[in-house]
Amino acid sequence: MKEHLERLIALQEADLRLEEIAERKRRIPEMVEAVRQPLLTAQATRDSLKQEVDKLTKDRKSCEQALAEQEQAISKLQDRTTKGEIKTNREYQAHLVEIELAKKKKGEIEEQLLILMDQVDTRKKDLAQAEAAVKEADKRFAAEKASLEGSVGALDEELAALKQKREAMVAAIEPTLLRTYEKLRRSKKGHALAGVNKDGSCMACRLQVQPQVVAEVKRGISVLTCSNCQRILYWTGEPVQIVPQQERKADEVEVEETAETTE
Ligand SMILES: [Zn+2]
Repeated sequence: MKEHLERLIALQEADLRLEEIAERKRRIPEMVEAVRQPLLTAQATRDSLKQEVDKLTKDRKSCEQALAEQEQAISKLQDRTTKGEIKTNREYQAHLVEIELAKKKKGEIEEQLLILMDQVDTRKKDLAQAEAAVKEADKRFAAEKASLEGSVGALDEELAALKQKREAMVAAIEPTLLRTYEKLRRSKKGHALAGVNKDGSCMACRLQVQPQVVAEVKRGISVLTCSNCQRILYWTGEPVQIVPQQERKADEVEVEETAETTE
């Protein structure tokens, strides 16, 4: 029975490793999405800056248009003087005021245009930086993605090798014991076996195992389960000298237990 338990322990290790590799493989698409995040952030920053530059450029163009119109309006006003359309002094005074106001408005448009030109320049520089950041993030993402997807091959190889090894392991285990193991494995998330530590407690559920059971588990001559979590128990303390079955006596459990407590 001892070697059966050892085989089961080895099988559980192989099964846990199989599950771990399968899980790593399953998580690859999710990890690819995670490494894509910095690229998406960089792209969003770039896009919003691009929109801003476009809007400011449009504003600047309308401002230039308004300035041209204002200049035209002023020259039209000035033309009135030379064309002799102004007859009286009162009309002339009003005309001068009108020109003055038009020039003042032109000055305001020019001021606004300067501000807009400055903003376009600044934002264009920010945009160039954002474009460079996108390129950098894209390069990094492509490398990380390739490395993650490249690891699938290695994981597949390991999975195949382990599955083959598992088949050989399973063939050497007694069918009833294997069925118990498989049943427990499904209900205990892969952990069908639990070690019993030196203090005599189940390492899976932390419950103190009955001393007689601990003594039996130490010998490893029969399959025993934890009364609390139902897992198959095995000894994890110091190795125990196995007493051949035919030499066992009824009180042996008690004797060993006493020997253990006096240690
Ligand atoms: Zn337990």
